[in-house]
Amino acid sequence: MKTLLFLDLDDTVFQTEAKGLHDHGCANYALEPTAFLESGLAHGFSTPPQRQFLQLMRGVEIIPTTARHTASYQRVKLDIPPPNWVILNHGGTILNANGQPDPSWSAHMQATMQPWLALFNDLNSQINAWAAHHAPGLHARLIGDHGQIFYVLVKDRDKQHAISLPRLRDELLAAWLEPHPELTLHHNGNNLTVMPRSLDKAHAVRFLLEHYRREHPELLVLGAGDSQSDADFLALCDYALVPKHAQLMRKLAQDS
Ligand SMILES: [Mg+2]
Repeated sequence: MKTLLFLDLDDTVFQTEAKGLHDHGCANYALEPTAFLESGLAHGFSTPPQRQFLQLMRGVEIIPTTARHTASYQRVKLDIPPPNWVILNHGGTILNANGQPDPSWSAHMQATMQPWLALFNDLNSQINAWAAHHAPGLHARLIGDHGQIFYVLVKDRDKQHAISLPRLRDELLAAWLEPHPELTLHHNGNNLTVMPRSLDKAHAVRFLLEHYRREHPELLVLGAGDSQSDADFLALCDYALVPKHAQLMRKLAQDS
């Protein structure tokens, strides 16, 4: 039986150095550089258990399923065979084995995003105006790939995100979002995003599952992911793998 693994990347198979040491509680772990900044500087590191996890998945078809865009995905160096498909931009883009966007998925996403573009421009300006007065390190920008805008991303360049992002949420975003129930906010560490609910890794996973099931009526589907924004795609999988110390694991522990 064919087995697929939809694999989130950041904080699932590597993380920043500080997080790796802290979360895994072992300063002696041999961290290996796995993801790189544009400058070439390593900023994502895998632990031995994370590398062992990927080793165990040999023989399983891995489909990277990430919020990263094409360029930042290309700066991730995982020890896995070249994938047949890659899900990027929170599900907004599906690349085929040649690294080209799947045209039917791109057309679908263009229609999905069109109604939100003017509103996102407005939100982007409002956040930056708010930041100028209240938290100068905060910066919002529109994130897109292959010519398509997908979401508004806010980060704190001063690394005050534990304070500034919740404040932005409470003082500006909560009221702004209220008339737009079709939009959703994700906050994980120094990343806060506003995007339509229709932009979700789960929709892209469902699209690929339909594709695979045409050829393989019987499939074992695994999913691995750490954050709240992975929850819906993990729920489509036969088994969900959640790393220790993940945002999602904290949620599971709270709910139980
Ligand atoms: Mg992640």
